[in-house]
Amino acid sequence: MSCTIFVRQPHGWQQLNTHSPNQALLEQLSHLTLETHAPHWDPSGSSTSLWLPLIEQTQWAGLLVLESASKANPLQPDYFAPLTAHLSHELARHQASLPPEHTQRPLLDMLQGLHEFSFMLWRASTLDELLFKAVDQGKKVMQIDRIAIFLLAGDNKMKGTYGTDIDGHTVNEREFEALIPPLWFTEHPQAQNGYLAINHRTQLYHNLEPVGEGWSAYTSLWDNEQRVGWIAYDNLIHGAPLAEYHAQLLKQFSFIVSQHLVRRQAEEKLSQLNTELEKRVTERTLELQQLNRQLEHTSRQDPLTQVPNRRVFDQTLPLEWRRAKRHKLPLSLLMIDVDHFKHFNDRYGHAVGDQCLKRLAQALSSLERRAGALFARYGGEEFVILLPGQNAQAAVVTAENALHAVRVLGVPTHEKPTDGITVSIGVATLIPDAENSAEQLFNLADNALYHAKALGRNQYFMAD
Ligand code: GH3
Ligand code: MG
Ligand code: MG
Repeated sequence: MSCTIFVRQPHGWQQLNTHSPNQALLEQLSHLTLETHAPHWDPSGSSTSLWLPLIEQTQWAGLLVLESASKANPLQPDYFAPLTAHLSHELARHQASLPPEHTQRPLLDMLQGLHEFSFMLWRASTLDELLFKAVDQGKKVMQIDRIAIFLLAGDNKMKGTYGTDIDGHTVNEREFEALIPPLWFTEHPQAQNGYLAINHRTQLYHNLEPVGEGWSAYTSLWDNEQRVGWIAYDNLIHGAPLAEYHAQLLKQFSFIVSQHLVRRQAEEKLSQLNTELEKRVTERTLELQQLNRQLEHTSRQDPLTQVPNRRVFDQTLPLEWRRAKRHKLPLSLLMIDVDHFKHFNDRYGHAVGDQCLKRLAQALSSLERRAGALFARYGGEEFVILLPGQNAQAAVVTAENALHAVRVLGVPTHEKPTDGITVSIGVATLIPDAENSAEQLFNLADNALYHAKALGRNQYFMAD
């Protein structure tokens, strides 16, 4: 009996261990189709021959041809089953580990493809887009049926990102979250960078459900020393064998995805922090603006009487002076001082004195409502009324009104509420020109006040 092994090569069939190949048989083999699986029994000729296909995972690996001179004792295919199974497997393994010329080109293409793939991930505008592209384009670049990316999510948990369904479509698996299953791969969490695990023959899964058999591979995703997830690969759909170079390719692929993933995660974290910071700054700015307004208001208001303070008067007087000068209009000033207030304080106490000042300020501030008029507490028991555009006559009317308002005011004391409180008023009016000044107006009013006091108080005095 003779035995010949034919091996399938990219360019055709090759007969092993011979210097004079059987050309007729080789010619026959070239027409062999995948359907020709069954052991072939050829009783023709002087001898009998048996063709035993060597098939590994639906692929032709070779053909074993046995020939016997005896026609009486036919060869039984079943008898050789263990031999063919072993030969098929070894041949397939051999072919896969030695990529012939025609598969080396795609490898170069794939490496070039990985380069472009890296750029594509770099351009992804969000983490989500990045993960989608990694899965969707990864399959095309490396000609792998299925890829899925999982990220670690806390203690012993994993989260899906994008994966591939059993028809090869890239699908969103963000909803998928599960405890990490006891796949043998996951038992090596401390494995080094680019860790790669390949199972040549194993159960294949989709959503943790077994869906078929074939090879599967896993690579880790790393952030420095820490594993952050992994990528799963298999060829569920077409069942193409895994080549030796795939190990290098998958490691490379995994490295690229890791790098972009980590960078993008950091970027998104940073931009999230930025947004929060901006929000906080905006909130703070609003608070500050509010506070500033309050401060501005407080700095212009007399805390006891809640009317404008001396600062406002000091700022307003020169402004109104210049305006009156421009328009050649009169500017009048009333200086109001509470009479014998020291005595009042001594008699009723400082607290009652404060209440009295508050009531006075209230009554006097509502007296003048013409545009530009300013009522302010100048200090102590002294108040001022600035009257832009009003002449002496108008100012006198205001002074009389003020005296009246104070007289009828019921200043609360625990004895006689209104008794005794009066004010004296100095009135001055000027039309600003080159000769006079705002200080002059102020001094005139001050002097007039002195005269009003001297004349017996509870009255106004008009400066010349
Ligand atoms: P005159 O009629 O001459 O103005 O007599 P007067 O007592 O009012 O004048 P004087 O300047 O001698 O005294 C002013 C008094 O006003 C002294 C002070 O105790 C009182 N006074 C000033 N500011 C306040 C204040 O904020 N609250 C109280 N309760 N009293 C004040
Ligand atoms: Mg005084
Ligand atoms: Mg006084």
